[in-house]
Amino acid sequence: MLITSTMSEQRIGGLAATMRAGSVDLAVVGPGSDLRYLTGYHALALERPTLLLVRADGTADLVAPRLEEARARSEVTSVRVGLRTYGELDDPFALAAEVAGVGQAARIGVGDQLWSSFTLALQERLPGRAWTSASTLVGALRVIKDDMEVAALAAVGSAIDAVHARVPEVLRAGRTEREVARDLAAMIRDGHDEVSFVIVAGGPNSASPHHEPGDRVLERGDAVVVDIGGVLDGYCSDMTRTYVIGSPPAGFADAYAHLLEAQTRSREAVRPGVRAGDIDAAARDVLHAAGLGDAFVHRTGHGIGLDTHETPWIVAGSEVLLRPGMAFSVEPGFYLDGRMGARIEDIVVVTEDGVRELNVLDRGLVLL
Ligand code: ZN
Ligand code: ZN
Ligand code: ZN
Repeated sequence: MLITSTMSEQRIGGLAATMRAGSVDLAVVGPGSDLRYLTGYHALALERPTLLLVRADGTADLVAPRLEEARARSEVTSVRVGLRTYGELDDPFALAAEVAGVGQAARIGVGDQLWSSFTLALQERLPGRAWTSASTLVGALRVIKDDMEVAALAAVGSAIDAVHARVPEVLRAGRTEREVARDLAAMIRDGHDEVSFVIVAGGPNSASPHHEPGDRVLERGDAVVVDIGGVLDGYCSDMTRTYVIGSPPAGFADAYAHLLEAQTRSREAVRPGVRAGDIDAAARDVLHAAGLGDAFVHRTGHGIGLDTHETPWIVAGSEVLLRPGMAFSVEPGFYLDGRMGARIEDIVVVTEDGVRELNVLDRGLVLL
């Protein structure tokens, strides 16, 4: 993902503002999506630490191994981020503690993706400070996507729509889940930079939401849940459709009709000011009324962006108010143990006056 110097400076400035509001003096972020969001740098997660140190006044330094200096210089866009490198025999944590320049009473936030070994080493070099999470602070910025991010999510959404449109080419009786998954991975690679995951869950396996494709041979009469995702220009796709080979098992078509209604109600409820919990309830109420409430075993959705799963969580009881720029999945499902299951998943973005759907492929049951 390429971000401009101005964007990087705005994001680091935004983090500093949330740090001041939360009385955090220093934020420490390691390789991962928070670092990419703030600087554009796709740092390698190595045993040699790469640490972005952001202070509450908005100044920042990157502590990085000397052998990564060229990459860091070319990818870190903001000229305001100082680069402090260390050699193979230096102590990176002593350097970080020195560069941090925080007092004895400082509160330090660490990113969720910072290795615990790094956090422990920092705590040793900076004793007596209070420690908290920095990812909740960065998350408060990341939860609202700007126009460029929405465009990236729309592009990767179209890419995964195109893969689902081609599922009927490879999904048929007599093939194993694994064979189908391998073909789908190749299709995802075609339109994405990376494959994130491929779930092909047929017959009784469709009742397991995160089933790992295995050696079961698909049969006529199987419902098959296909949930796939990849990464394009740093942003993630995640989309599910349910297919049936031949004619559906007894009771399946009726249950699927309720699921489709639940997913539609949920998508249509999305607009600014609505509680995330109400988006969950819109789907859950329909399934509950159809006697499928207990079969809907997970939340309705999750935010998506640089990570496949990020805030906001579309979960029962959430009081989080939807705001323009929030992007998340709407993915109710039903799972009847040992028998069958189904899920429909699309990504949506909250707009100024409603919702924009980033996956538009038909949601009806696909009979193969
Ligand atoms: Zn999914
Ligand atoms: Zn999902
Ligand atoms: Zn019914």
